Amino acid sequence: MSNEPTSEKETERREASELRDVFSGEPIDLRPGSDDCYKCSTCDTECPVAEVDDEFPGPKFQGPEQWRLKRKDDRDIDGSVMTCSNCMRCDDVCPSNVPLSQMHNTARGEYVDEQMSPFSLEYARNRILANYGRLAPLGARFPRLTNFVMGLSVTKLVNEKLLGITGEREFPAFAAQTFRDWWDERGGNAASRERARRAREERDGAKVESDDKRVAYFHGDYSNFNTPEVAKAMVRVFESFGYEVAVPEQRCSGTPMYANGMLDDARRAAKFNVETLAALVERGYDVVCSCTSCSMALRQEYPELYSFDGTAKVAANTFEALEYLRIHEDLDGELADASVPESEFGELAYHAPCHARNQGIDGQAVELVSELDGADAVDVGDSCSGISGTYGWKAEKYDVSMQIGEDMFEHMREVEGETGMTECPTCAMQMNHGTGYEIRHPLEVLEAALVE
Ligand code: SF4
Ligand code: SF4
Repeated sequence: MSNEPTSEKETERREASELRDVFSGEPIDLRPGSDDCYKCSTCDTECPVAEVDDEFPGPKFQGPEQWRLKRKDDRDIDGSVMTCSNCMRCDDVCPSNVPLSQMHNTARGEYVDEQMSPFSLEYARNRILANYGRLAPLGARFPRLTNFVMGLSVTKLVNEKLLGITGEREFPAFAAQTFRDWWDERGGNAASRERARRAREERDGAKVESDDKRVAYFHGDYSNFNTPEVAKAMVRVFESFGYEVAVPEQRCSGTPMYANGMLDDARRAAKFNVETLAALVERGYDVVCSCTSCSMALRQEYPELYSFDGTAKVAANTFEALEYLRIHEDLDGELADASVPESEFGELAYHAPCHARNQGIDGQAVELVSELDGADAVDVGDSCSGISGTYGWKAEKYDVSMQIGEDMFEHMREVEGETGMTECPTCAMQMNHGTGYEIRHPLEVLEAALVE
């Protein structure tokens, strides 16, 4: 299948990442890259944390300056790197292609390894937050009981006082059935193959072989344990276009681990994912994600940090779900002839996740949904939601997280209706937390429009 990048920005990003010497297997030395910075400060003006927290020195310091200082006298990493939320907005705007997020991730990892005690509460809390996917199967085994216990005020109090996990937020509920259990019960890959074959027959009026219509779905932990309706929508929408969907074994994409400097955990998860997905890519599958942070990890963070066999191949063949359909199908045309119940959707307050901006795919959901009868999407501006995955769950970061989100909340309230839309599960949490709106994923809108 064609692996054409979707935008100029994406082409630039892929070319730039090919030029970096990160496949040598040697430890990454980012110090020479700091010379590419000409101190324009564009990154600092884009940083949502620096905007509300006067003590945070900003991305220019966290990236190039820190690495420059290290070149001089192998200094320790400055602890303020733990205040960076990993939103990657700085990475997106740098005119000189300084690998800012690669610098931040590497610095955070070094700080955690060498300067943070593994016996500290901060380390324990961050490790728990970063490894949600490891703990979630326990909670998902008894979802009603877990939801009840996690919703108790006493649980929130203990979490806040003992672990430093904010008690201000509602813990995301576990679904009664995980996506993967639903998938197995439905018949797994064989059932998907058959449904896709029938859809192609209906569309083309003839038997069409599926070798060039196969995708491997990287659903991530949240869609599996908490919002299986998003993952089911992804499967049904792709099958309706005649795609056979495979759901390989997978671990967390690593995004929360990078954000917390848990690079050993991230490396193990990434290695597992690359091995599994590379084997499918070899067989002609493309990798599709419903979460924009997952697609970003697979196609940007993995090749920036790892040299496993297949890393570059997986990165080059990974796409976000809507982006993929726009490349390969006449999605705009299909939506122009479709409709959804206005009472269910109507005017949707859309927030583009920072990680979608970073991949150049932040405008597509608004364009697509606005084609539909019964729904309209209004972009609520380009501010950061403020939660940045695990960041806004930390008790000491909660206020900053809400201050960053205030712009988005305000614009959401200006939109008619009380439903929001975004591709990122933690942005969705923050949108709901700040406004009380129900939040939908664009794939759910597509499912309502295109799947009978
Ligand atoms: S935007 Fe790039 S070039 Fe400008 S200060 Fe930041 S890192 Fe340096
Ligand atoms: S990743 Fe986000 S929070 Fe971190 S330095 Fe860059 S812009 Fe600021």
